[in-house]
Amino acid sequence: MKTTHNFNAGPCILPKEAIKAGIEALQDFNNSGMSVIEISHRSKDWEAVMNECRALWKELLQIPDNYEVLFLGGGASLQFCMVPMNLLEKKAAYLDTGVWAKKAIKEAKAFGEVVTVASSAGSTYNFIPKDYTIPADADYFHITTNNTIYGTEIHTDPDSPVLLVADMSSDIMSRPVDVSKYAIIYGGAQKNVGPAGVTFVIIRKDILGKVSRHLPSMLDYRIHIEGESMYNTPPVFSIYIMTQTLKWLKKLGGLTAIQKINREKAALLYAEIDRNSLFKGTAAKEDRSLMNICFVMTQGHESLEAEFLDFAKSRGMVGIKGHRSVGGFRASVYNACPKESVQALVDCMREFEKIYK
Ligand SMILES: *Cc1c(COP(=O)(O)O)cnc(C)c1O
Repeated sequence: MKTTHNFNAGPCILPKEAIKAGIEALQDFNNSGMSVIEISHRSKDWEAVMNECRALWKELLQIPDNYEVLFLGGGASLQFCMVPMNLLEKKAAYLDTGVWAKKAIKEAKAFGEVVTVASSAGSTYNFIPKDYTIPADADYFHITTNNTIYGTEIHTDPDSPVLLVADMSSDIMSRPVDVSKYAIIYGGAQKNVGPAGVTFVIIRKDILGKVSRHLPSMLDYRIHIEGESMYNTPPVFSIYIMTQTLKWLKKLGGLTAIQKINREKAALLYAEIDRNSLFKGTAAKEDRSLMNICFVMTQGHESLEAEFLDFAKSRGMVGIKGHRSVGGFRASVYNACPKESVQALVDCMREFEKIYK
């Protein structure tokens, strides 16, 4: 197989072990003579996978007992609507830190009053606003902990006087989180915990049943809790790979261990961005994401952008073109991205500087 350094933003790199286990289960699941996608989702063997997956979530994130972990469809984008539908009676507060936050705000507006407590839209979302007041009468406060497109991240679990809801699509399982501070944590799996097709929702059970509107069954968290994420047929293969990804993470030492590795990888790349005269970072230093590292050419060198992309491509780098709304480059260095790939990118930037400076 061709060697690449995969920096895709999502779907993205997954542990080789998880993919290998997926291939095996696709051919023959548990020596059953059938593929994992050919068996009944009501069978004992499948139930064991669901239980293992849930248990891994609970163990890795130390999720308290009064929470449930759900595996649903629809992506993080459906949660933009399900959260307000299930929680918003009068008013909700949102922190606007990027395109995903904005999409969440748009959906919430259909269900009640939405207060945007602060926004960094005026500076292309290159920092996390810190000076804001959360209205005490809001039903909940919504944040996006990692802004995948802009490379900013909220590094600590904030205090909130009202229920705290977080879209953690792109930094879930990258560091320990104090789950007890949140009412809901949700995200699409395809950035750090598995392939697309499954959405995780960690939810405190006592917050439900407080809105007066009618909830369609598929959009009612209580129905999915009651059905143990099998009210309807779950995305079995995505859940299988997610389970294998979490097993890999546990073997590696869990969230404290991966956080250390993630810090080392990010430090390595940011140090080169800051040192190299041809590149500069776009996010405010204190808010720099450990998952998505955004950078551009320095002033006077903008015309080298396409050349660097070609140069990097010829050395095996994949997925480093920045999002169309920011330009420049973005290297996504999720859990499964090996340090060797980050080092290869750093070497590539150094080499490029030698030639073009
Ligand atoms: C990718 C992403 C989303 C969208 O996820 P889907 O599963 O495609 O709906 C939402 N929020 C954040 C922070 C993301 O990175």
